[in-house]
Amino acid sequence: MSPRPGPTFPDWPQFDDTERRALDRALSQGQWWRMGGSEVDSFEREFAAHHGGGHALAVTNGTHALEVALEVMGVGPGTEVIVPAFTFISSSQAAQRIGAVAVPVDVDPDTYNIDVAATAAAITPRTRVIMPVHMAGLMADLDALDKLASDAGARILQDAAHAHGARWQGRRVGELGSIAAFSFQNGKLMTAGEGGAVLFGDPDEYEKAFLRHSCGRPRTDRRYHHQVAGTNMRMNEFSAAVLRAQLSRLDSQIDVREQRWAYLSTLLAQVPGVRPQAGDPRADRNPHYMAMFRLPGWSEERRNLLVDRLVEAGVPAFAGFRAIYRTAAFWQVGAPDESVDAIAARCPHTEAISQDCVWLHHRTLLASEQALAETAAIVADAVAAG
Ligand SMILES: *Cc1c(COP(=O)(O)O)cnc(C)c1O
Repeated sequence: MSPRPGPTFPDWPQFDDTERRALDRALSQGQWWRMGGSEVDSFEREFAAHHGGGHALAVTNGTHALEVALEVMGVGPGTEVIVPAFTFISSSQAAQRIGAVAVPVDVDPDTYNIDVAATAAAITPRTRVIMPVHMAGLMADLDALDKLASDAGARILQDAAHAHGARWQGRRVGELGSIAAFSFQNGKLMTAGEGGAVLFGDPDEYEKAFLRHSCGRPRTDRRYHHQVAGTNMRMNEFSAAVLRAQLSRLDSQIDVREQRWAYLSTLLAQVPGVRPQAGDPRADRNPHYMAMFRLPGWSEERRNLLVDRLVEAGVPAFAGFRAIYRTAAFWQVGAPDESVDAIAARCPHTEAISQDCVWLHHRTLLASEQALAETAAIVADAVAAG
């Protein structure tokens, strides 16, 4: 008996002649770094305009985007950054790498976004930044978090690695009054394999970040006047050329994913034991970086077997993030003065979600409704068997 063929999904990343022409254009410039070419400058302008304005700095990757943003915000030794405990490790690593303490807090059991009350409880006089992650593209509660931050004399840094093109109450990421960091890594919603960007509202902060990302050196310097401590995080011209092409495809892909998630999540919600990620009507444009759902009450082992079964059936499924405080990396530098057990005790939802959550690659949400109906049926069979 041959196995069922399984549903078909588009490939990711996607490209066509737009990327080919862009790469050729970058090659032909004869200058392949941003100081000689024009692709990075153009991409920065186009990316900022697309997100409602401000000033975008293109960098090497999303982790570096968070680092340089935090540095510009005055984060370093003696300061604390509040991060969700359920996220990709870069959120905390960026703060820890530059000498700060990363303080993990619990997330909401339905949206998987940073919990506002838990954030409020974690604020200390050393809190410099609160870093919401817009999980899978669903915006965190920026109204409440903005208020918390301003009351505490802290600032918001949006980890927008999942949130290209997202909106909060009609406002785009660049119109929300806080700095945002993006990733263009291979799996992200627009990609050049690697890459990142920081979106600033304040041109002075953009200039500060520019200096730091280019060895402390002013744009026009030819005499080695390195003005501030920095490093090299410059994006190259090829990446920027590809990203300009990718940006032109973002909005139409978001339209498809919004429509397909409405369809798939309705089907998944009908499967006994499955609870899809909730929405928030204020997050009125969600680019859907992942299709996430929980199996409340399931153990990590049982969830992992389910993921294996889905993969065998041809569905690109993955286990949810491990709680950041349950990685070895988290404890090497910049951990709070608390035990794992103490953090786990105040992060009950992260404890559960990190064990019972499954996510599907966003390319599933670019597939046909037929493929999604088959996907939901495969999930239902796998859950019933597990
Ligand atoms: C991907 C990601 C990053 C980091 O991006 P890289 O470009 O891979 O360095 C940061 N935060 C979150 C939540 C991510 O998913």
